Amino acid sequence: MMIVMKATATEAEIDAVIDRIQGVGAVAHPSRGEEITVIGAIGDREHVARLELEGAPGVAKVVRILKPYKLASKELRREPSVFEIGGARIGGDSFALIAGPCTVESREQTVGTARVVKDAGAAMFRGGAYKPRTSPYAFSGLGESGLRLLAEAKAETGLPIVTELRDARDLEPVLEVADVIQVGARNMQNYTLLTELGRAGRPVLLKRGLTATLEELLMAAEYILKEGNPHVILCERGIRTFETSYRFTLDLLAIPVLKELSHLPVVVDPSHAAGRRSLVEPMSLAAAAAGADGIIVEVHPNPAEAICDGPQAVVNDDFAALVGRIEQAAAVAGKVLSAAV
Ligand code: PEP
Ligand code: MN
Repeated sequence: MMIVMKATATEAEIDAVIDRIQGVGAVAHPSRGEEITVIGAIGDREHVARLELEGAPGVAKVVRILKPYKLASKELRREPSVFEIGGARIGGDSFALIAGPCTVESREQTVGTARVVKDAGAAMFRGGAYKPRTSPYAFSGLGESGLRLLAEAKAETGLPIVTELRDARDLEPVLEVADVIQVGARNMQNYTLLTELGRAGRPVLLKRGLTATLEELLMAAEYILKEGNPHVILCERGIRTFETSYRFTLDLLAIPVLKELSHLPVVVDPSHAAGRRSLVEPMSLAAAAAGADGIIVEVHPNPAEAICDGPQAVVNDDFAALVGRIEQAAAVAGKVLSAAV
């Protein structure tokens, strides 16, 4: 349920509404706009139904939120959410470039690549230390020693770090380094993990599952938001279709549709959808022109030697030129590259 306060509502009237919401065992989510305050009352449907706020002092109207996801919904919050992450902005008129290797392999590869992407204008550095792999026999990341290399890359460049958490048991060491915790496509519906991340409070980049609908993605985001963590970035990374000419089908329609449905920022991962380097640029440009809030792209100094996802990695030496073209495509959608401090 959403309680729209009058423009003239006083702080005391707003507090009284929040008290009433908490009084029935629901959670109040106030959103203070320039003109009016809107308060979401989220909780058990029967508890919320007991609220009788029509006509209460300062209340303009009470509206039911129809979507099954409440906190992620545009119904609750009309303006786009904009997050400030380690000095980088994501959302609104900012376009955040997140770049780095699929997996952390060595100091030289990690810190060297971080320097390259920073100089080219990236806002954040990505790299996996815990890799979800289709085969249980494949390399699954350097774990804690990989996290230490990410910490070095951050100390060296100042770039905020985006890294994947595969298992809630590794949360503590990941929290020491990650500015944004990535939830991989295969974990999108790992509700225990999502709940833990909601409680951890660190920004989350939530990847769309291989066969997930947009509603399922938003319901997964809701698990994180519900725990009081508002910083969720949605990520379209390609879905499984009958087409086999490329790794996954990049669903570019997800960008405008998610923006119709939700206030959360939307980024695109062209690398995992494409599976091939030559397709990364056209998909990056298309995502930027379609209004994405950023891209998360894989780069590597020497993809032929990469342990993981080499065929789709952009070569470090080619990255700056790619960024120049992405900047132009983002401008078409009225966005400017977000810089890291
Ligand atoms: C990755 O970002 O390296 C990754 C494994 O992505 P996804 O979860 O989208 O497959
Ligand atoms: Mn990868």
